[in-house]
This record gives sequence, C-alpha cells and structure tokens, in this order.
Amino acid sequence: MSKPQDVCAHPGLMHPDLALPLLLEQVTPLEDTETVQLSDSLGRVLAEDLASSIDLPPFDNSAMDGYAYRYADLPEKASLKLLGSSFAGHPFEGQYQPGGCVRIMTGAPVPAGFDTVQMQEKTEANGELITIEPCKQAGDNVRGRGEELLAGTKVLRAGTLIGAAEMGVMATIGISSLRVIRKVKIAFFSTGDELRPVGSELAPGQIYDSNRYSIQGLLSRAGVEWQDLGVIADDPEAIRQAFRNASASADMVITSGGVSVGEADFTKQILDEEGKISFWKLAIKPGKPFALGHIGKAVFCGLPGNPVSSMVTFYKLVWPLLHKLQGLPQPTPLLLDAKLTAPIRKQPGRVEYQRGILSRNQDGELEVAVTGSQGSGMLTSMSLANCFIILEQMQGDTPAGTRVTVEPFNSVLC
Ligand code: AMP
Ligand code: MG
Repeated sequence: MSKPQDVCAHPGLMHPDLALPLLLEQVTPLEDTETVQLSDSLGRVLAEDLASSIDLPPFDNSAMDGYAYRYADLPEKASLKLLGSSFAGHPFEGQYQPGGCVRIMTGAPVPAGFDTVQMQEKTEANGELITIEPCKQAGDNVRGRGEELLAGTKVLRAGTLIGAAEMGVMATIGISSLRVIRKVKIAFFSTGDELRPVGSELAPGQIYDSNRYSIQGLLSRAGVEWQDLGVIADDPEAIRQAFRNASASADMVITSGGVSVGEADFTKQILDEEGKISFWKLAIKPGKPFALGHIGKAVFCGLPGNPVSSMVTFYKLVWPLLHKLQGLPQPTPLLLDAKLTAPIRKQPGRVEYQRGILSRNQDGELEVAVTGSQGSGMLTSMSLANCFIILEQMQGDTPAGTRVTVEPFNSVLC
C-alpha cells in the first residue's frame, strides 16, 4: 500500500476505507492522564483498569418483597412463625429458628440460616403466623453474594469511554475518583475572505461563516476541549500567525476551507514552511479534498470549506483520529439495510454519503429517502437528515425499491 506522502502524486482518488488506516498512522495516542472525581467522569476515557474490591452483590439479598424462610423447612404449603423483619439498610438482628420466617423487602439482607424468599403475593399473614406456598427451589428470589462478580474481578478496562452505565458501575464498586486520559485540546478556525462572523452585516459577495459552529458542535459532542480562533482571511501572514497560535497549545488544529485545488496554496506554502502537510483526494462525496499534517506537536486537519463536506469529513476522518488520540477503539458504525422510497441520482466514482430520512413503514420495514437536494453547500440537508445513505463507489443511479445501506446519525451528529 502506498505511503501517505505518495498519495499526493496519486492520480486517482483513494477510497476512504483505504485512506483511514494511513491517516491513523500519523496520530499517536495521548499519554498524559489526570485524576477526576466520579461525578466529573462522563465522556472521559479511563486510563486504568478498575477491579472491584468487593463482591457484587456484597451480601445475599432479596429480589422481592415477601418472606425469607429455609427451603427445607417448607416441603408443602404451611404456616411459619414470623421472627422479625429485614428491611433494606436495616438487617434482621435475630437468629434463625427452625420453622421460622422473616418479613423481607427487596434489597434487604437475607439473614443467616435462611436461603429462600417467597414473594408476598404467595403468602398470607395471620398475626404471627404466615402461610407460605413453597418456592420451586432453594435460593429462589435470593440474589446471592458475588453472583454478579467476585472481589478482584476487573470491571472496566483502560481505554473505556465512560458513559452513564460506567459511572453507575464505578459507583457500585465504591470508586470515588479515577484516572482518565487528559482531554484532547483542539484549536480551529475558518479561512476565507468571503466569510463574515454572525452578528455582522453581509456586503455583496460575503456569506456567514457556518463551519465554525457546526465544527464546534461536533467537537463538543466528541468530548474534547476546543478553542475557536475565528475567521482568518486568505492572507499568508494571517494564516501563518493563526497556525502558530493554534499549534502553541493544541493537540490538533482543524481548519475549514482552502484545501481545494487551486486554493490550497497558502495553507500548503505555510505548512510546508512551518510543518508538514499531505493533501488527500478521497473518493468520497461530499468531501473530496482533505489535508493532514503536523505543525509543531499538533496534528493538522484541513477540512474542505463546503459546509456539508466539512461535517462529513469531520465525521468520517477526524472523529476516528480523535478516537486514536484518546486511546479509544475505532468507532464501529451501525449499518442497516433500508428500502429506498424514491430514486437517487449518482455517478459512479465516489462513495456517497447522501443525507437521508430513515423510518419504519406500516409493514414494519425500514425505508429511507434523501432529504432533497444534496449539494455539498446545503447544510439544511444535514439538519433534516437522521442518517447517511451510503452508496458505494461504483454504484450509479439507484431506483426506488433498492435496498441500500444506511448509517443512522449517532450521538456526535445529533
Ligand atoms: P473552499 O474549500 O475554501 O474552496 O470553499 C468551498 C466553498 O465553501 C465556498 O463556497 C466557500 O464560500 C464555502 N465555505 C468555506 N468556508 C466556509 C465556512 N466557514 N462557512 C460557510 N461556507 C464556507
Ligand atoms: Mg476558501
């Protein structure tokens, strides 16, 4: 397989699936870690294996509200003597006695000597005597100590992305603080003389800079720390200064615009002087041009300026790079099959990520249609969509009724 440097000279377009491993080779995972409190750990990447110091559950406890008894004491429906009660947080303090039972609530400890719980609905209380239908087997409705895991078992591994469930798991084993990979720092800016910041008036020929906001949204969802360096004019010295500022403390610098043919000169010239850069022509639509390089210690990602292209290249290329930087496994998109409800026009040559609306029809079948016009400048197509319709490189026009591959938008895009 060709090396990234050779790719500039490659006359054709490279399939994104081939390009991604080459792009990933250029990124080294962060090693710095920091300690955070459990309540601040959402979205962070665990930097240590965590083992439980306790059995889970830590004691035999009841899965039901009812009565605890000893299975051998009740060969058939009969009355047992009520000895006391065990509530969650308030264990029974008495002793087991043959022929006795204990009122017990869900989560309460099953007292020593007892081994089975019958649910309340299958019992009848007459003062101190409780008539109980026997359970099917000993141990019914008891959650045994250690049945989920034993002390010493590894519960979470380094490199795990911490979500709500992981926070709960850590709390279950009593972890109050943990080591995580430090947050990735990103600096980003837009380039283009035509771009104006929102809140200003547009002169003829000008448009509002939208990419900085969609990129900001993507970066926030990706759980990284970001710094917005604004709009930079198509001016070599301004771009040079912006790159220097951006790379001073960031792990990754992301720009949008100025990487398409004929326009990349400043970016290329300056990155050649200040760092290293490769231009990639990927067989992906939207988003053909993409630049990757290094400035100082920072990785540089140059996204195309067209708003949909910049979002798609971020999602398909930058997001995987961010996974690698954070020491996370690569994303594995959920791909579904759905029936096209209207034809799609496509020229063979590039993998297309058309914006689609996926739904389930009355027969329970998944179906999908494009959002409308698919211009790479039409950002409303992203906002209307809930999925990508992925059309393979050599696919041409696709009639209604065809089953197509669909990638639902995930938490980064929603
Ligand atoms: P470029 O990649 O710089 O050649 O830009 C391609 C197209 O995207 C042009 O129509 C630009 O005006 C537009 N564009 C570039 N940057 C932005 C941005 N930050 N926000 C909105 N549109 C942009
Ligand atoms: Mg431009």
